[in-house]
Amino acid sequence: MENRTELDQLGEFGLIRRISTNAPPTRTNTVRGIGDDAAVLETGQNEYTLLSTELLLEGIHFDLSYTPLKHLGYKIVTVGVSDILAMNGIPQHLTVSLGLSNRFSVEAIDELYAGIRAACAEYEIDLVGGDTTPARAGLALGVTVVGSVEKDRVAYRNGAQPNDILCLSGDVGGAYLGLQLLEREKQVFLENPDMQPQLAEHEYVVQRQLRPDARLDVVQQLRELGVMPTAMIDVSDGLASDLLHLCAESKVGAKVFEEQLPIHDKTFLAATELSISPITAALNGGEDYELLFTIRQQDYQTLLDGTTDISFIGYLTAEPGQAALVTKAGEQVDIIAQGWEIRA
Ligand code: ADP
Ligand code: MG
Repeated sequence: MENRTELDQLGEFGLIRRISTNAPPTRTNTVRGIGDDAAVLETGQNEYTLLSTELLLEGIHFDLSYTPLKHLGYKIVTVGVSDILAMNGIPQHLTVSLGLSNRFSVEAIDELYAGIRAACAEYEIDLVGGDTTPARAGLALGVTVVGSVEKDRVAYRNGAQPNDILCLSGDVGGAYLGLQLLEREKQVFLENPDMQPQLAEHEYVVQRQLRPDARLDVVQQLRELGVMPTAMIDVSDGLASDLLHLCAESKVGAKVFEEQLPIHDKTFLAATELSISPITAALNGGEDYELLFTIRQQDYQTLLDGTTDISFIGYLTAEPGQAALVTKAGEQVDIIAQGWEIRA
């Protein structure tokens, strides 16, 4: 009898590791293959080409009962662009592939592309191709983004050193709470279609979920200030999970201060209403598309003076695998990932 191993025995990251171990790069111009936010390819004199791809499926990544197609178009570009930014790179070109069932009209696809075009304008990138194929059911969206970075400015997940300062753009936890509110309203609506959604005061977190922005501005600011991040990752799976990736790759530990975690007032409001801890949302929420990066201590003052939307949330230690949250009471709690697992 043939062996059969269930996917959930390996999990997403175990599976990726297995694929990567079995397919090592052979070309000398593959500078970095599987394992970071984007692949790094040698294509020119002074710059690397960056390449990243994402697949988003209806019913898994998005729910069209509360997601306007225009927002979805914008969001898929954000998701793709964010991984290029996470290499400290500048996105340039985009392809979008569609798996479409006949449930969708031409007008619906126009809406999707209105969002894609708006995002392309925002990030100054060009839509240069894709693929279109019929699907039995639902909507599948594939995005590939190509970008570039000067060779001496590429930021990997593995460049951080003990004592480097942990920096985080924007605020976290909002997108997750936005999703919880949308799901709640959906259930209310399903039970009683006459009910109107109660989301007016939660516009901020709902927007964070439905139409997130990638932080091109942060990558540009770092460039202008002449600050080189020692490591960088985008916060897509959740701050805890993505911090642990950065720490594992850099072989360092981390201390994060609870009181430094950037949490928006509206995120607190939504968390209270949903009886979810705002700290849990901030650490494990995901889909924030903020940038988590590390800098040398000597760059701290420059960043403090030159930026407005960066929080200094902690520092790195020489104890690999040990990431702790220092609470307001001064206690230390282990930071653990709560990423998703592949389910049957
Ligand atoms: P991110 O959340 O930043 O997109 P992922 O966790 O999805 O990162 O992916 C981590 C790395 O694994 C990336 O280098 C990605 O290209 C690679 N990867 C993911 N899935 C596959 C796959 N099916 N085959 C090959 N490489 C993959
Ligand atoms: Mg990423």
